[in-house]
Amino acid sequence: MKTQVHTGSYYAATVNDVTDFAPLVGAQTADVCVIGAGFTGISTALHLAERGYDVHVVEANKIGWGASGRNGGQIIGGISGEKKIADHIGADGREIIRDLRWAGHEIIRERVEKYAIQCDLKFGYLDVAIKRRHLRQFEADYHELQSYDFPHEIRMLSRDETRETIGTDAYIGALLNMGNGHLHPLKMCVAEARAAVSLGARIYEQSPVLNIEHGAKAKVLTEQGHVSADAVVIAGNAYHALERKLRGIMFPVNSFIIATEPLREEVVATINPRDLAVCDPNFVLEYFRLSADKRLLFGGRCNYFGSDPQIIRKNLRPRMLKIYPQLASVAIDYAWGGSIGVPINRVPLLGRVSPNVFYCQGYSGHGVNVTHLAGRIMADAIGGTLEQFDLFANIRPVTVPGAHMLSKPMVALGILYYQIRDRL
Ligand SMILES: Cc1cc2nc3c(=O)[nH]c(=O)nc-3n(C[C@H](O)[C@H](O)[C@H](O)COP(=O)(O)OP(=O)(O)OC[C@H]3O[C@@H](n4cnc5c(N)ncnc54)[C@H](O)[C@@H]3O)c2cc1C
Repeated sequence: MKTQVHTGSYYAATVNDVTDFAPLVGAQTADVCVIGAGFTGISTALHLAERGYDVHVVEANKIGWGASGRNGGQIIGGISGEKKIADHIGADGREIIRDLRWAGHEIIRERVEKYAIQCDLKFGYLDVAIKRRHLRQFEADYHELQSYDFPHEIRMLSRDETRETIGTDAYIGALLNMGNGHLHPLKMCVAEARAAVSLGARIYEQSPVLNIEHGAKAKVLTEQGHVSADAVVIAGNAYHALERKLRGIMFPVNSFIIATEPLREEVVATINPRDLAVCDPNFVLEYFRLSADKRLLFGGRCNYFGSDPQIIRKNLRPRMLKIYPQLASVAIDYAWGGSIGVPINRVPLLGRVSPNVFYCQGYSGHGVNVTHLAGRIMADAIGGTLEQFDLFANIRPVTVPGAHMLSKPMVALGILYYQIRDRL
């Protein structure tokens, strides 16, 4: 199977640590074998290594090669499908979920401090409203956060305040939340992988897993070797096709990002002086923020399945200029995309395919936060503490037979449906 180098993203071009772990060769044994070195796999591995497990991570390409090294870097509160999960729990549901909504943020903060990670971490976030119903939704969120003494600054912004904060007339108001934030995701993912290795974890790059043999000792097989382990965690998210049971429970939805050249100081001072991450609430959404070197990273979902930077530029640049016409003469230096795992019922998919083979995927664009929580939940589950794992695993995934084969036309149809809904 052919392995790949990083996509041509701003992140790959500016990462501060380029990994080069050897492929898996020969027979290896481990307590736990994790498949996939994105945030889910690496977060799980780091939690396990901190608890003294012998953990091996097998990655098809490079650490952070998938969505984790390509995303908007926005640390967004909440879990997709959280209302469904809360309803499923019953009386205490809302309270239980409330505590989990920000848990990934805390794990990120703690790790950045504990391992002295340089990943351009910043706090400050703006949910921007395009329609009145968005404002009503943000007001409800604001009151909910206030009701339990949310420890960070939160504030509703009027249309004028929104314009002053991010230098555009495109939005009718916003919710400022200094508890959310942004980071350079590839730097973060690689640094967490290094932390896991410093605690004894082993990582193999350029090693696509071809099959898993189930049993008391599960065997994870690649072309040149295998790992026998007491437990396995499948963390390939939208990029894997392992295990028949996992097909058709999630759609890969594509999202794309362009990065401008570094902006002049006076431009930065007008479009985002507080260095906030910004996101609208549509399903076919747009999100943007500044990088550490003051480029505008502008992202959005669209109905395109390729990776041609010219097409991505052509699609996203007009959308960026609608919000910031003043950037018309600014060059676009990078354009890239990646796949997000969106479960059919939107609830993150945590479960098992056999007693000791677990899976963990499908965060619908909230993954920077939720992968960090999920890694901890998977480590707990492997250690026998199933309380939080079961909150997710007890919700049966919705399956659309053949969805993995029909994914392009079905996703196109889905996006069209949501585009219409977003406009209402
Ligand atoms: C363009 C884009 C923008 C996004 N923006 C945001 C954002 O701003 N905020 C946010 O919270 N979320 C965002 N997301 C979503 C977020 O990035 C993901 O939810 C998260 O990174 C998923 O992490 P993961 O580790 O589960 O999957 P991935 O990062 O995709 O990692 C899966 C890994 O598994 C490996 N793999 C697959 N199959 C195999 C195999 N057979 N053998 C070995 N390895 C295998 C892959 O090579 C890959 O490295 C965005 C996603 C994209 C694509």
